Amino acid sequence: MSTFQADSQQLILALSKGRIFEDTLPLLEAAGITVTENPETSRKLILPTNDPDVRVLIVRATDVPTYVQHGAADFGVAGKDVLLEHGGEGLYQPIDLHIAECRMSVAVRNGFDYDTAVRQGARLRVATKFVETARAHFAKKGVHVDLIKLYGSMELAPLVGLSDAIVDVVSTGGTLRANDLKEVEAIMDISSRLIVNQAALKMKRERLQPIIEAFERASKK
Ligand code: AMP
Repeated sequence: MSTFQADSQQLILALSKGRIFEDTLPLLEAAGITVTENPETSRKLILPTNDPDVRVLIVRATDVPTYVQHGAADFGVAGKDVLLEHGGEGLYQPIDLHIAECRMSVAVRNGFDYDTAVRQGARLRVATKFVETARAHFAKKGVHVDLIKLYGSMELAPLVGLSDAIVDVVSTGGTLRANDLKEVEAIMDISSRLIVNQAALKMKRERLQPIIEAFERASKK
């Protein structure tokens, strides 16, 4: 265990900037915790709260499960999209917080006949950050795909001929429309989950349990 976590009363929460951070703030408030610095303006990666024993780590969304799995954070908030790719080892059964809701979808360029391509058994080139989810989806459909792993800006891939389709998270659909793409298949609904390190849940249950319960109550409203 690192010296950073030497005090067993300290709680470390891992969050990503943006929608997950913003949607988690009201849940923290319900647990009596106020984050006292704004990650959009602060350069700090460890943010203080009104409770000297609770601090917030700001990490990439895809890294949240890794920090929690290894105990560098006691708990965190991560999207189902990210958790499916990570696999969820070492994490306590995630609780659905019903925040940052969106869906995972297949999208193609306007004018690309996806249904016919699938019906004819064409081999599709699919660009995505979510390779495990995409692999499982197309395997279930019996569609042969070549998966191309990207780390961002998936929308670009069909426009420049890198792929026939993309698998990405869609919220309003505005990003797809702005890039001449259309959603052709919804794969699953996505929301963010509270994840807890299994050892921390045992060792720090007294501190963690009231926060988990406050999150659960506030997220159901
Ligand atoms: P939209 O234009 O509203 O459909 O948003 C789509 C873009 O915003 C995608 O390219 C995603 O990268 C991102 N996005 C929207 N909602 C979420 C979410 N809940 N989690 C992660 N990324 C999201």
